[in-house]
Amino acid sequence: MTKKTTLNADNLRAGYSMQEIVKSVSCSFTAGTFTGIIGPNGSGKTTLLRAFSRVLPSSGILELDGKPVAGFTPAELGMALGFVPQDEARPFSYTVMQVVLMARYARTSRFASLTPADYARCNAVLEETGIVHLKDQSIRALSGGEWQRVLIARALAQDTKVLLLDEPTSHLDLSHQSDALALMKGLAGTGSTIIGVFHDLNLAALYCDRLIMIKDGTLVADGTPAEVLTPEKIREVYGAEVVTARHPATGRTFLMPLSSRSCKTPARQGAPLRVLVVSGGGSGADLLHLLAGRGYDLSAGILATTDTDYGVAQALGIPSIPILPFSQITAHSLEKLRGMVARADRIILPAHPVSAGNLPVLFVLRETGAAKVIVHLPEGREFASYDFAKGVAAAAMTDLCSAGASCTSTYDGILAFLEQSDNNIPPQSE
Ligand code: ADP
Repeated sequence: MTKKTTLNADNLRAGYSMQEIVKSVSCSFTAGTFTGIIGPNGSGKTTLLRAFSRVLPSSGILELDGKPVAGFTPAELGMALGFVPQDEARPFSYTVMQVVLMARYARTSRFASLTPADYARCNAVLEETGIVHLKDQSIRALSGGEWQRVLIARALAQDTKVLLLDEPTSHLDLSHQSDALALMKGLAGTGSTIIGVFHDLNLAALYCDRLIMIKDGTLVADGTPAEVLTPEKIREVYGAEVVTARHPATGRTFLMPLSSRSCKTPARQGAPLRVLVVSGGGSGADLLHLLAGRGYDLSAGILATTDTDYGVAQALGIPSIPILPFSQITAHSLEKLRGMVARADRIILPAHPVSAGNLPVLFVLRETGAAKVIVHLPEGREFASYDFAKGVAAAAMTDLCSAGASCTSTYDGILAFLEQSDNNIPPQSE
């Protein structure tokens, strides 16, 4: 069964006196859905919502239940569409109940008075929003969060089928956030059309069925949270590096931010530098996280599937060569490693325990040449303390350093060596 379209926008344009902000947005919303509008600061989310609610004039098509919104009287619009602003001035000392009752006046004819049913409805929404204890309090005495819940209660008391919310939980604490959004989700479940602007992408992903992403006043993505919140889209629209995962408790998509990309990522011929991290025993975990946040094209070497480094590489989507724990490294895995080594612009070797089992990895690095290797040896440590191969491992690491590998004791040192690589490295074979 196709759901009924309630709000429809086609080629919608809106803005302020001198500037068009919303540029030709087309989208429609159906009954029984909860849609989140997301996008960076200043991208036009609030302006779009204000255009939907007719707080701002717009051009293009805007229809409610198939009828042009421009033809609605203010009273008809009040019956059809509720709007929760981010905030609202409180010039008068009304009580909370008086403010919520105003929503019922919008539904009555001009000279009619409110009925007991109107009061009952307002009491019910005060209960639903958890502010019944504040009903006789002056709105001027409320905290930002309490006032935000009054604004939500007022919109609920309008009993409209379409509800527009502008960052409805920005002033709410964690438990009130989830209460308010669960309430909205419940309303969508009973057939309302809920559209909210969201700053917090994880909150939006948790409650919304659909996300619309806005950039510079244009719609750049529209789909389920899993379809819209991809690392590529977030990078393109927010300029931030994130990893996405499925929340273990909810099964919904969620984002984990990595460090911001305000720093310049060294590149080779316009593409991110290809960095192979040859680690083990958790020695590469922090480094993989750090470098992923800076946008390097990463790979990890041969890793046991129980190794922390393997878990981190998996979570960050970094390719590695997995082997079973306590198993021998096969000739096949070493061949794959040679391929990774050949492809990499730089190879980082954080000092880590080396025994006879993983010694062949060091030999692969030594045979390929030390020039692109960066060895990380923490301050106060010696190669000998990582050697569980009767001195052969320490000798191989020392050989690498004397053959021209860059050596450092800090992560800043590693980053500095990577930055020096910028554009100075000839293309590698694929
Ligand atoms: P968002 O909600 O995505 O943060 P907004 O829709 O609030 O973005 O703002 C989009 C752009 O419109 C911004 O550049 C902002 O400065 C401008 N803007 C917002 N409100 C007004 C206003 N009342 N008058 C003029 N420009 C405004």
